[in-house]
Amino acid sequence: MSRQVISATLAIEKGKIVCADCGRALVEAGQSWKRHAALTSTPIRDMPGAASAVDDKVVLRYFACPGCGSLLDTETALPEDPFLDDVVKA
Ligand SMILES: [Zn+2]
Repeated sequence: MSRQVISATLAIEKGKIVCADCGRALVEAGQSWKRHAALTSTPIRDMPGAASAVDDKVVLRYFACPGCGSLLDTETALPEDPFLDDVVKA
């Protein structure tokens, strides 16, 4: 089985983006994988050491593998912002 590593946490196998740790398929290559990950959001202001100048609405999003729980990516955003998509094509 051939695997193309596309980041430290993701790979492509058989035309699908998969978790690099457990191999669980998230989505067809070329589509947004974040919509298929397990999402957790935490307000930045609740994190240790958060700067007082950070807007109260800003969140840190954690995208994890729904199969093994490995952290795949993070991003900071306002709650209503769309995901910052990394679209990977085979
Ligand atoms: Zn996994």
